[in-house]
Amino acid sequence: MRSGRHFLQIPGPTNVPDRVLRAMDFPTIDHRGPAFAELGRRVLDGMKRIVKTEAGHVVIYPASGTGAWEAALVNTLSPGDRVLMVETGHFAMLWRRLAEKIGLEPVLVQSSWRTGVDPDALGSALCEHGDVKAVCIVQNETSTGCATLIPEIRAAMNAAGSDALLMVDTISSLASIDMRMDEWGVDVVVAGSQKGLMLPPGLSFTGVSPKALSAHAQARSPRAYWDWSEMLAANERGVFPYTPATNLLYGLSEAIDMLEEEGLEAVFARHDRLAEATRRAVRGWNLEILCEEPRHYSSSLTAVLMPGESGADALRGVILENFDMSLGAGLSKMTDRIFRIGHLGDFNELMLMGTLSGVEMGLAIAGVPHEPDGARAAMEYLIETAGGGA
Ligand SMILES: *Cc1c(COP(=O)(O)O)cnc(C)c1O
Repeated sequence: MRSGRHFLQIPGPTNVPDRVLRAMDFPTIDHRGPAFAELGRRVLDGMKRIVKTEAGHVVIYPASGTGAWEAALVNTLSPGDRVLMVETGHFAMLWRRLAEKIGLEPVLVQSSWRTGVDPDALGSALCEHGDVKAVCIVQNETSTGCATLIPEIRAAMNAAGSDALLMVDTISSLASIDMRMDEWGVDVVVAGSQKGLMLPPGLSFTGVSPKALSAHAQARSPRAYWDWSEMLAANERGVFPYTPATNLLYGLSEAIDMLEEEGLEAVFARHDRLAEATRRAVRGWNLEILCEEPRHYSSSLTAVLMPGESGADALRGVILENFDMSLGAGLSKMTDRIFRIGHLGDFNELMLMGTLSGVEMGLAIAGVPHEPDGARAAMEYLIETAGGGA
């Protein structure tokens, strides 16, 4: 038994707000009945506002984000098609492996794990590989804390005269960092429930542009569970072709209400501010932020490099044992070299200060060389930028 609340400060799954938990605590209803159709329409329309599309559709799956990765590819492409991917980190590499497994031919643009996608490098790759059918970008690389500026990617594709589909993984950025599907010319948006959307794991989404839907009509990859055609036909009536995750959809409806009550722009500004406070704390500890490119700093998480020989996993263990807080581990080639602080979803100033204080105490207990000035630097920034004056 541990008293008080566990601090779940990994960059997803994130803390589920009480309002969402309560909204799901209802009897499961008949998913073919009239009450369900009303809920179905509400969440389908709401998700279009969250990804900012009027021209397109959003498809909702009972699946983790990985399912939406697969859905995006099998619905729009044919075996042997070449797709352009950029090695921004662990998640970009997993999406590439999935593409290979289903018979596509990914062309990989090399990149360091310390920046987002460089539009010039992408433009050169597009000129060299003019036949790619899709460009697949992770908007926010959850393994590194580096975010890519999607309008720059669209501009590089236009400059190269590419008519490939633009697919963007927003699993750890949707509802934390802006996504404007129509305005930015994104053809497929891939999203998941358990990060910025503040829900438990179990739902994923694909935003589908009219151009993606035309590609769908020609695409020959085998698909059944993920098939957009049957989904969109049923969704017209507010229902689904197979049993949807009804109680998660109750939660989704509540989460959309919460995001719209706060206002999406205010939600993004809150994430930007808490992310900046976190970076000031890292500098106050005299530690290094993994992301080397300030334009690419992520507003949903910060990855911190360990100094010298200190291991990140031992530090995370000390923090979990002493303060009941979970931090994100380094993944694949970053294993034990970094820890990741999630600051996305249902999160505020005092939750951030609890998080940063826990890290600062953990650094001291674990004997990691650092300066004890992180929490103070974050507080100074929060005071400077506080909205409510005397
Ligand atoms: C979490 C995450 C995924 C994987 O999602 P699952 O729900 O674990 O399948 C993919 N991409 C990014 C950017 C993520 O953050």
